[in-house]
Amino acid sequence: MTTATPLSDEQRRALVIAAQAARAQAYVPYSEYPVGAALLTASGQVFTGCNIEIASFGATCCGERTAAFKAVSEGERDFRAVAVVTSNAAAPCGICRQVLYEFGPDMTVILAGDDGAIAWEGSLADLLPLGFGPKKLAEGQRAAQT
Ligand SMILES: [Zn+2]
Repeated sequence: MTTATPLSDEQRRALVIAAQAARAQAYVPYSEYPVGAALLTASGQVFTGCNIEIASFGATCCGERTAAFKAVSEGERDFRAVAVVTSNAAAPCGICRQVLYEFGPDMTVILAGDDGAIAWEGSLADLLPLGFGPKKLAEGQRAAQT
């Protein structure tokens, strides 16, 4: 079992506010469902993201992955928390859960509505039980060699 990274009230509030601001940048001409995300890394930096829809829908990227890829592209590899803001406090999609798990299996996830009210807070492991990540891959590779 994993436990979520503990957050202070100040960190929680700052992440939700940053996610609200990121949501305002969403490019969503097709779904009209803007998503904002704010990701806290172990170094204390916050990376934000919004969803970006493309007319060729397969090229669309969620807000959570936008934030995650921005963080990784800046050298961050240890995620501690993410706040996601949508109109209905929705949880990240399956693809985003997998991407977040790669860099923060024990991270905290905060789900908030567009008014900033936190509807749910828990660990990523709650959203992706028995997740597959780098540790499992390495274990499997070692097992295959014996
Ligand atoms: Zn997603």
